[in-house]
Amino acid sequence: MTYRSPLDPVALTASLVAIDSRNPSLVPDGPGELACATHLAAVLTSWGFAVSLQEIAPGRANVLARIGPAGCTPLILNGHLDVVGVDGMSHAPFAPAIRDGNMYGRGSSDMKGGVAAMCVAAARAAARGSLASEIIIAAVCDEEYESIGTRALLAQGMQATGAIITEPTRLAITPAHKGFAWIEVVLHGRAAHGSRYDVGIDANRHAGLLLAALDRYEHDVLTARVHPLLGRASLHASSIAGGTGWSTYADRCVLHLERRTLPGETGEEALAEVRALCDELTAARPGFQADVSLVCAQPPLDLVSDAPLIASMRAACTANGLEPTIAGLSCWTDAALFAEAGIPALCFGPGDIARAHSATEWVEVGDLERATEILEAVCAGWGR
Ligand SMILES: [Zn+2]
Repeated sequence: MTYRSPLDPVALTASLVAIDSRNPSLVPDGPGELACATHLAAVLTSWGFAVSLQEIAPGRANVLARIGPAGCTPLILNGHLDVVGVDGMSHAPFAPAIRDGNMYGRGSSDMKGGVAAMCVAAARAAARGSLASEIIIAAVCDEEYESIGTRALLAQGMQATGAIITEPTRLAITPAHKGFAWIEVVLHGRAAHGSRYDVGIDANRHAGLLLAALDRYEHDVLTARVHPLLGRASLHASSIAGGTGWSTYADRCVLHLERRTLPGETGEEALAEVRALCDELTAARPGFQADVSLVCAQPPLDLVSDAPLIASMRAACTANGLEPTIAGLSCWTDAALFAEAGIPALCFGPGDIARAHSATEWVEVGDLERATEILEAVCAGWGR
């Protein structure tokens, strides 16, 4: 892959998409991000960045690249290099092709297009000598699984005046997204011969009682919790497994629940609410017994509306002829980790989350260029 110009977001996107960086924690034969990170590190070095390639785990790497005046607290542009699996895709995943103004390929939308845009934006602003603040490019690994990349970055004590995560938002300024909580419920029954209703306790049917209670909880409680940018809170039963054979009462049933949380809700609160439903069933049904635990929780994102980062993004959009749009994102992103670390964060990038992880993934070539111009204006104006 050769670049049409040294600072070309379309060519850089294509070169990143062409390198398989499937997340090995999601896809057993995924190679990880190291090759893609090594390529990007070389490109950014050639553009004048001070680059370090940090191997976070075997085959998993972050690229940290600094440009502009050092000594002040920087602005971070963050994006992930890992992609999800490619089974069932309708086009070649790692042979990027442009048709009708769109570039097709795994990761084109989620989110190598955004990574390319942020890199070229910072490089162009620096090349014009217009940076008042240092800019740090953080191209990280593993966002699609456990975010070990951004977590490692923040664990190093990274400070910043703001963080823009260039996830696909269709060029909407996105200061809010949901969090999530994974809740495991283990229902305990008592194994017995299928004829011995007097002895057996059916863990599977007790799971059914809980599912019915959860259905009412979603309908009565969660639908009433609404965020102006994110819609309502929600819950679904991700998986259920219990029982050993036709003629045996199930002694155990494991139910996995996912709660998508709104700003103001925590994983612990979501857990407590499921626990309360189980307590009601324990009181109402002899033999009902459940252990409820929180497996994992990630916080929501909700940047205050008067944050300088939002004002800066708005001004940059307007200056580039794009009416600024403020929107929420349904999915979780690394932005929440920056917010949790006290760094004001939002998402803004080319592409559409609706195409992420799907059989056909593409990014609009025009939006790659436009996102780059807007991010360049933010970089140039930051710290003034
Ligand atoms: Zn993503």
